[in-house]
Amino acid sequence: MARPLTKIVNLASIKHNYLLAKALHPDSKAFAVVKANAYGHGAVAVSNYLDSTVDAFAVASIEEALELRGSGVKSPIMLLEGVFEESEWSICEKQGFWCAIENDFQAQSFLESGVNLEKVFIKVDVGMHRLGVSPEKAPSLVKRLRSSRNIGEVVLMSHFSSADDLSSKATTDQLACFHGVREQCESMPVSVANSAAILKWSIPQGGWIRPGIMLYGISPFDGIRSSELGLETVMTFTSKVISLRSIERGQKVGYAESYEAQGEERIATIAAGYGDGYPRNAVNGTPVIVNGIECALAGRVSMDMITVNVTNVKNVEMGSSVQLWGDKLSVERVASHSSTIGYELVTRMTGRPKIKYI
Ligand SMILES: *Cc1c(COP(=O)(O)O)cnc(C)c1O
Repeated sequence: MARPLTKIVNLASIKHNYLLAKALHPDSKAFAVVKANAYGHGAVAVSNYLDSTVDAFAVASIEEALELRGSGVKSPIMLLEGVFEESEWSICEKQGFWCAIENDFQAQSFLESGVNLEKVFIKVDVGMHRLGVSPEKAPSLVKRLRSSRNIGEVVLMSHFSSADDLSSKATTDQLACFHGVREQCESMPVSVANSAAILKWSIPQGGWIRPGIMLYGISPFDGIRSSELGLETVMTFTSKVISLRSIERGQKVGYAESYEAQGEERIATIAAGYGDGYPRNAVNGTPVIVNGIECALAGRVSMDMITVNVTNVKNVEMGSSVQLWGDKLSVERVASHSSTIGYELVTRMTGRPKIKYI
């Protein structure tokens, strides 16, 4: 008998979701974004599975890229934030990594390094003010790098601040800014879209799209379910009931006695806690599926356990099945009860749950 907490990852569904992104933009190539350990799904396993399907992978750092290469991944790998130190350029050349260049330090140190890169993505800051060269400076940087004999191809790249908000005017403004920069550069491939932009915005065709969260079957939009977007659920986070008790009206549950029974209630204790990545700020009432029935979290999340009101579920017993999120309960819903987003819940899971690929 082992602790029953398991993260089940359906690799075929990741492939389905990747192909859906491609089908929405048939003239574009698509990265599979596998940064942050493939959003908690296991970058090595996910990337090796997708290696023969994808056009390229994208990660956040050279360490992540080297881990994938070291595990046998053959597809091109792009560093979405480029390099952080000059010493990385020669590794990029040797490994064939593609790089974003988003600031003067990167541009200058690249040109001084003399290394050859197959593809470079010049990132322009169209309004998010996080990464990227200014729209004023971008065209001259494009020109400079395009005239360098050390680069195979230069792509114009950007990233939107609010593509997940379909009523926001920001994306329209930022797209217009991007088109303005692009017009000042001779025709060149572009890359602007994350999942939200891929799914719902009218983006320039050709070039490269960058789906991340949608690969993992999670909707980037508040109020649009992933199934409505045609996405398949990828992760199912399951556990079991490890203890059961009945309590009376007025009795409290868990640390700080934050839950009080409203009548006679059946409380199930489940192996899953914040030490596994279940969100500690999940409130009383957060949905949890027990024996296929939706129940409500009762009491504060502990490090190793949660407690759930299972009064309305028939036949609950030790070992009854539990779904924390997955095909019967979206991670977005759990996130909405925990003042966060699905992205964070899957990405910040700890190494403690067992992981099973199907
Ligand atoms: C993480 C990331 C993406 C993927 O974003 P999703 O919202 O997860 O699709 C795309 N582009 C860049 C630059 C990123 O850093």
